Amino acid sequence: MANPIITLENVTRTFQVKRQVIRAVDDVSLSVCEGEIMCLVGESGCGKTTTGKMIAGVLPISSGKILYRHQSIDMLRSDDYKKYRLAVQMIHQDPYASLNPAHTIFQIIAAPLRHHGFTRDEAHTQARVRELLQLVDLTPPEDFLDKFPHQLSGGQRQRVSIARALTVNPSFIVADEAVSMVDVSIRISLLNTLTKLKNAMGLAVLFITHDLALAKYFAWEGRIGVMYLGRLVELAPAHELVESPKHPYTQVLLSAIPEADPEVTRRKKHIQLRSMDVPSLLRLPTGCAFHPRCPAFMGEVCEKVRPELMPADGAMVACHLVNRKT
Ligand code: SF4
Repeated sequence: MANPIITLENVTRTFQVKRQVIRAVDDVSLSVCEGEIMCLVGESGCGKTTTGKMIAGVLPISSGKILYRHQSIDMLRSDDYKKYRLAVQMIHQDPYASLNPAHTIFQIIAAPLRHHGFTRDEAHTQARVRELLQLVDLTPPEDFLDKFPHQLSGGQRQRVSIARALTVNPSFIVADEAVSMVDVSIRISLLNTLTKLKNAMGLAVLFITHDLALAKYFAWEGRIGVMYLGRLVELAPAHELVESPKHPYTQVLLSAIPEADPEVTRRKKHIQLRSMDVPSLLRLPTGCAFHPRCPAFMGEVCEKVRPELMPADGAMVACHLVNRKT
């Protein structure tokens, strides 16, 4: 495996809700290597955004360990911790809220360049801002420099957010539902820009989405991790996960993706869940948390014993049915 930039070892994050403790992320372990694309997918509340925030250092972990280039981030001294915080940048879901409405695009992008000393003088700052706007396909840059965020479309604002993240020469981008608030027609073009940047700059990208179809498109060369109620239930190379999904939850998600050809969609076998209700994190089911909904439910073992993430034919899967076969 290539060199991991970020490694999670048994990471858990709990929150206190009405005198109860919920485990938003529960015992998650994974690595993301240099230049790699990894997608985390799952329904709302599965812990994918919390995982992304912990990786980016904006939310502390409750237990476990996060390693940045093999060193625990808790043990990093101030200079190294600053390097880690600059190297790992986050692009947020909402391009409307994440940009200061009172600043021009030039000011938004120039501020981190100046603050972190990435430019020598004003001429260098001016040139670098133009270069970054071009990199994210906001061309010609002169058309955008003096505009305010409200004068741009959602897709253009998200490109500004990406340009701002690139100001500090990161090696890892956490893109949290980064295209979900823009029009469908713009999504693919934004994903193509991210792919271009990844290839040009050797960036690793953790792409967080509830949309497995988007994950499939974006991470075809990378890996996909599927989360359910705080736990990682399947992790595999994207093509393998899509062509041969092993966990029943992954199979359900894939069966719900519409195909380009309506006839193929009509013929596609839609897997029925046993229940449509997603259990609350406040009252997690015992054993396998997916058991009340699982179409492959096997009775007592699923109800009572929590399945661990284990190797299964090139993937990692947490399911008694799969783990029994391998
Ligand atoms: Fe379904 Fe049992 Fe596998 Fe859970 S462990 S996904 S309930 S078969």
